[in-house]
Amino acid sequence: QTGANDLQTKADRLAQMSICASLARKFPKVTIIGEEELSTDEVSEELIEDGHCEEILKKACPAQYSGIKEEELVIWVDPLDGTKEYTEGLLDHVTVLIGIAYGGKAIAGVINQPYYNYEAGANAVLGRTIWGVLGIGAFGFQLTEAPAGKHIVVTTRSHSSALVNDCISALNPDSVIRVGGAGNKIIQLIEGKASAYVFASPGCKKWDTCAPEAILHAVGGMITDMHGNSFQYNKEVKHMNSAGVLATLRNYDYYASRIPNTVKQSLVP
Ligand code: AMP
Ligand code: MG
Ligand code: MG
Repeated sequence: QTGANDLQTKADRLAQMSICASLARKFPKVTIIGEEELSTDEVSEELIEDGHCEEILKKACPAQYSGIKEEELVIWVDPLDGTKEYTEGLLDHVTVLIGIAYGGKAIAGVINQPYYNYEAGANAVLGRTIWGVLGIGAFGFQLTEAPAGKHIVVTTRSHSSALVNDCISALNPDSVIRVGGAGNKIIQLIEGKASAYVFASPGCKKWDTCAPEAILHAVGGMITDMHGNSFQYNKEVKHMNSAGVLATLRNYDYYASRIPNTVKQSLVP
């Protein structure tokens, strides 16, 4: 545990060692940035994955990415997003996020939801993987529009503040959904459960937004900070998304234009 608001469990550490060591072995020149500060030099062999996904490799690489060199990529890893909810048994809030950036932009991402369907009975398949690439699309879920004419905001469950709540009130939504995880909140957007992800606070980091951003952009959505600035994912960038997160599948301008100036002034990028 690194703090009551910033938990780290054995699951976070093991997942990160597995993901980062496996990627580093296969792609030694790629820059990999994981949330947890861990060495991946001495990772036990049983944590190494060397498989690949046929379904993904069948797709043609978009022309604009075919000349990319390994050393030009940055991979942002959140081995367990929604740790607070994980420790409270809200297992379907948990996701594993792997985002790939090129030229500072999120271009591909994976959101794995290991406990998807965990309450759906023994016949249901446990877990799912949502993935997307700009120029190819996003897969592993059914893209669904939020109810027309309704403003449903999804936000943090465990990192609220007066500013977070004031900002939501100013948007006058029809309803507010409070769930854990940045990955989980993007899933709420692309499956039509919510129309905007609004988090007027620092706290969310680049590994929380890179994979979700790539998937959301692949299906025509938008994600920025509260000022409307896009996120950068080059390896030198500051990890904290200090000016919050505003994301939508549709109608970004509706929400962006209603963020109060007082909220913006409180959030320095
Ligand atoms: P949440 O919506 O609260 O689940 O937060 C989304 C992501 O941002 C999670 O990875 C959280 O751990 C992280 N996060 C948000 N706010 C904070 C905070 N105040 N302190 C530490 N981490 C935060
Ligand atoms: Mg996280
Ligand atoms: Mg995490």
